[in-house]
Amino acid sequence: MKRLLVLAAAATAMFAAHAQSAFPSSKPISLVVPFAAGGPTDRVARDLAEAMRKAMGGNANFVVENVNGAGGTIGVAKVARAAPDGHTLLVHHIGMAAAPALYRKLPYKMPDDFEYLGMINEVPMTIIGKPQLPANNYRDFENYIRANSGKLNIAHAGLGSASHLCGLMWQSAIKAKDAMTTIPFGGTAPAMNALVGGQVDMMCDQTTNTTGQIEAGRVKAFAVTTAKPLSNNKLLKDYPTLQEMGLKGFDLTIWHGLYAPKGTPPAVLAQLNTALKAALKDPDFIKKQEGLGAVVVTDKRVEPAAHKAFVIAEMNKLKPVIEAAGKFAD
Ligand code: ASP
Repeated sequence: MKRLLVLAAAATAMFAAHAQSAFPSSKPISLVVPFAAGGPTDRVARDLAEAMRKAMGGNANFVVENVNGAGGTIGVAKVARAAPDGHTLLVHHIGMAAAPALYRKLPYKMPDDFEYLGMINEVPMTIIGKPQLPANNYRDFENYIRANSGKLNIAHAGLGSASHLCGLMWQSAIKAKDAMTTIPFGGTAPAMNALVGGQVDMMCDQTTNTTGQIEAGRVKAFAVTTAKPLSNNKLLKDYPTLQEMGLKGFDLTIWHGLYAPKGTPPAVLAQLNTALKAALKDPDFIKKQEGLGAVVVTDKRVEPAAHKAFVIAEMNKLKPVIEAAGKFAD
């Protein structure tokens, strides 16, 4: 009897070990994007899904799930509540660190509700306008805004999104907070359609969404949001930075990271982090991202602990900036 019990215990232990190592299972790994399909976050997630699938030896199926609304916070909350088994992950940007300062109440806890897998890329933003605008350079654009105060609108991807954050900081810097009405969309892909169609006047968005449209002349670009000019970017190297246009200290770069729900087993997290690191070295992934003005991250911020520390530092850095620009959400 005793021998039988020992054998049963050994079998249970073996089964448990196998269950733990059975990652990924046959079920797909869902990359939740908290914005609409076709936008910058969706773009990086789709490229990453392909590179991580390759990195895992084609052994895992990845699907991208767009859960948009409320500036990304609905999708983030969905991941916070998902089963922590490695099969539901979140691809999100700087909104991860901005939303806690923009919302009085969030449906999840930052930074505690997540496991931090690592950073993916950094992306500059561009200030763009509809093609029908009469201005052809940043100075004229700002003058046009002042001359048309109260009549213009600015698109963004919801309160807490990167485009909202950029618009908030920029309007505050040019002292034109009341000059325009904000129009929220489920992501900057639909916002871009409205801009190209002339239904909205302007937007600030990642180069991963704006590059193709600027190149094709479907929108007008006026400035970049980084502290330094984008000298290595063929398309944007001659556009001024907002600092060069007199907005002292303006410096905004968007980053994306990969997250899992709190409680995901360490072995699963380690496997995903290894796949992430390999994906970030994949030449196809790098080429696609660089072609859209993004810089793939390869430094220690791809390590979970360093990325978590980075997100917390960004939360602390953005809080006073957002408060100074004016709090816009509940
Ligand atoms: N770029 C968007 C933002 O403003 C999000 C997106 O559609 O990916 O946050």
